Amino acid sequence: MSAYTSLESMDDKLDAQMSLGVRIRAVDVKDVAHRVITRHLLPDIQGSLKRFTGQQLRCPKCNSKYRRIPLRGACYCGNKLTLTVHEAGVSKYLEKAKAIGMTYGVPAYTIQRIALLESAINSLFQSDKVKNSKLDEFL
Ligand SMILES: [Zn+2]
Repeated sequence: MSAYTSLESMDDKLDAQMSLGVRIRAVDVKDVAHRVITRHLLPDIQGSLKRFTGQQLRCPKCNSKYRRIPLRGACYCGNKLTLTVHEAGVSKYLEKAKAIGMTYGVPAYTIQRIALLESAINSLFQSDKVKNSKLDEFL
C-alpha cells in the first residue's frame, strides 16, 4: 500500500510530500513547491472557479436538475433549489497554495498568479452591494 492511499486528506498528502522535500538533500524543495502550485493547486482552483459559474442547480426534493434558474426562482415542484458546486470547493486549495508559496519562496510571478486567483474568488463571492457609508469614514 502506498502512502498516497494511507494518507487521507489532500492536506496530509501535501504536507508529507513537502516534509520529504525538506529532508532529502537531493530534492530541491523550492522547485517541488513551485511544481505543486503551478501543476496541481492553481489548475484545480481555476477549474472549480469555472465550474462554479457554469454549474447546474439541483432540487433536493425531486432531484431534478436545471441548467439555469427557472423564472419562478424555485423548482417546478415548489422546493428551493441548491447549488451543485459550493464556495468551499472553489477556495479549498487557495489557502494551501498561499501558505506553500510563502513558506518555500516560489517565484514572484507564481505569487502574483495566486493573488490574481484570490481576487477573482473574492470578486465572485463577496457581495457587491453598496454599503451605507457614514461621513466620518472619509475623514
Ligand atoms: Zn423539485
